[in-house]
Amino acid sequence: MSSQQKFKRVILIGGSMAGLLGARVLSDHFEQVILLERDPRPTGPEPRKGAPHARHIHALLGAGVETLDAFFPGLVRELTAEGAVLVDMGRDGALFQAGQWKRRYVLGIETVLCTRVFLEWKIRCRIAAIPNVEIRYETSAEALLWDEARTRVTGVRVKTGGAEETLEADLVVDASGRGSRASRWLEQLGYEPPPVEEVGIDLAYSSRLYAPPEDASRDWKLLIVYPNPPENSRAGIVSSVEGGRWIVTLSGYFGDHPPTDEEGFLAFTRTLSTPHVAEALARARPLSEPVRHKVPSSRWLHYEKLERLPESFILFGDSVCAFNPIYGQGMSVISLCARLLGEQLTAHTRASPGSLHGFSQRFQRKLAGFLTVPWKISTTMDLKYPQTQGQRYFGMKLVHWGFDAMIGLAAVTEETGKPFYDMLHMKRGAEALMSPGYLAALVGYGLKRRFASPEPSDVHRMPRAPL
Ligand SMILES: Cc1cc2nc3c(=O)[nH]c(=O)nc-3n(C[C@H](O)[C@H](O)[C@H](O)COP(=O)(O)OP(=O)(O)OC[C@H]3O[C@@H](n4cnc5c(N)ncnc54)[C@H](O)[C@@H]3O)c2cc1C
Repeated sequence: MSSQQKFKRVILIGGSMAGLLGARVLSDHFEQVILLERDPRPTGPEPRKGAPHARHIHALLGAGVETLDAFFPGLVRELTAEGAVLVDMGRDGALFQAGQWKRRYVLGIETVLCTRVFLEWKIRCRIAAIPNVEIRYETSAEALLWDEARTRVTGVRVKTGGAEETLEADLVVDASGRGSRASRWLEQLGYEPPPVEEVGIDLAYSSRLYAPPEDASRDWKLLIVYPNPPENSRAGIVSSVEGGRWIVTLSGYFGDHPPTDEEGFLAFTRTLSTPHVAEALARARPLSEPVRHKVPSSRWLHYEKLERLPESFILFGDSVCAFNPIYGQGMSVISLCARLLGEQLTAHTRASPGSLHGFSQRFQRKLAGFLTVPWKISTTMDLKYPQTQGQRYFGMKLVHWGFDAMIGLAAVTEETGKPFYDMLHMKRGAEALMSPGYLAALVGYGLKRRFASPEPSDVHRMPRAPL
């Protein structure tokens, strides 16, 4: 087999973000891609049982938008033509973070505001149009199949309705989300369970859709009032989405969960660091009841640390690493991981045409290398709260000081804001934050905040967007 020839069949378990994007990439490398999804076939952009989180706000980082548009050319145009809202995060986003408003300026980081169900539906339609991809709905993966030596996964035992069937494959991909049973399946066959890294946050979201009021003076399309650790752990987000609607999400850590009744939901908005979410909702008309979703922890299953992993079996998406959603990383990270999967498979088959031997372990290690930065960003932020359950590390206080100074600095000047937001949106690494000029500005800003008497932040005065 030449490096151009395809393997026969890959099976992906789970037809959500990781499964769909994995299918897109693997359709270039396999003659047949089978995607197994437990839920019934959706008939449109609607919530489904297997992805209850899809009812809540789902922001895409800049790198996520670019990667999705590269996977599905014209996707961003298609989404916006059907009502999704294309924004520049700096110009169109009003962000209140670390006790101050970020100045409004054009960041050059574009994102698309839409509901998760709409985005997933559009991606699902693109996947369904790929000739060598078959999505089997109402089909659940029940167990893995093995070779006699139990060193290689050879397929999946599946159940459709009451009927069981076995499906052989050259590669099996677990993309079944946080509830993945993969570690149990492996344990039953004598493999060690992966070490689990968990940062407990006891977070919950409450979200509902609104019809926004007419207001010619409103110049934002996204309003985010972030929590401000360690003092304040409540957040509120109002985001324009398709259909001329808003999705409004409130969140609270450590059991301080936003209510789902009308009065409690609105009362929670009045306790945020600024009154703007409450003011925005005062004349808005609710279109749905609030729904809640709990996120007990950020969790990373370190499959890459296992001495032994079976051949022909890989995992990615939330089944490996599920982040605190407040930082909006999940889907963008998954899109970049899918791209990594494609690149790694190309490199592997170039080196050993026709063979997947050694690929599983190599991929899980590369994946872990990639996940380290986003994981560190989100968990380090969360570990600012004394109530967060997790491993603190030496020097973390200095990192917290640095993050605060970076956020503060990004709020006041454009030159320092761009490299910081490029890093947060995963468009570039942290190199630009290491330049002598940036570091000097950072230290100067941090010291000023530390020793100067604090300037009272005018929480009421939201900066205007540039003309
Ligand atoms: C409240 C909340 C808000 C979020 N907000 C954001 C955000 O703003 N931005 C962002 O980028 N990310 C966000 N995320 C994260 C994002 O939703 C996840 O990272 C992403 O959905 C994970 O995709 P996945 O495919 O790995 O898993 P999931 O979306 O959990 O999907 C798993 C799929 O596998 C199926 N399945 C499970 N077991 C089986 C089986 N045995 N056989 C067949 N099918 C099976 C399920 O039915 C489901 O469809 C948020 C998450 C939550 C919880």
